[in-house]
Amino acid sequence: MSVKICVFCGSSMGRDKVYQEAAREVAGFFVKNNISLVYGGAKVGLMKILADTLLENHKEVIGIMPGMLVDKEVAHEGLSEFIEVKTMAERKAKMIELSDGFIALPGGFGTLDELSEILIYNQLRINDKPLGILNVNGYFDQLLAFFDHAVVEGYVRAEHRNNILVSDNIPELMEKMQAYRPVSMGKWLKDIKVESR
Ligand code: AMP
Repeated sequence: MSVKICVFCGSSMGRDKVYQEAAREVAGFFVKNNISLVYGGAKVGLMKILADTLLENHKEVIGIMPGMLVDKEVAHEGLSEFIEVKTMAERKAKMIELSDGFIALPGGFGTLDELSEILIYNQLRINDKPLGILNVNGYFDQLLAFFDHAVVEGYVRAEHRNNILVSDNIPELMEKMQAYRPVSMGKWLKDIKVESR
């Protein structure tokens, strides 16, 4: 069975062609390394580029989408497998269940929602699958700076901030994901109980 990586990314193409190029590079890396794609199942935006590039190369693409989006006619009809679910929450749960790891490419609120879900799942050790952010063209710089700010202000633990793997190129990002080791639960939970006394 091939490794399955779930990619979160824009339902839009983005302003600069560099983002579309990055989506093609990710898809090319998946093809070369026989990695299957799990994603939101759409035929729009960066999602379409990813899915189409893998399909052209006869690789497995699994799309997961809630019925209300299928009704809006954004579903990709040519996938290896299409899973229709009832809700956005169910979609994320299915993405997490099927995938061995997660990569966020540039995107909007949908992408942010999905990557946040993985961050909190990793923090609570509900799953130990790695999350990588592909920081194309510095797109995520301000978000990463916000995470650093949250550490300084005492709302995010440094070790959880360090759970987020970042690179501007896909081979290095995948290497970091392979080396991912989760943070143990015990210490930080004890710390927050102590500081709340
Ligand atoms: P966004 O980043 O806001 O463009 O949303 C993209 C992410 O949210 C994708 O990873 C999808 O799983 C989900 N999503 C949001 N909008 C759509 C859509 N129109 N079709 C399919 N999935 C979507």
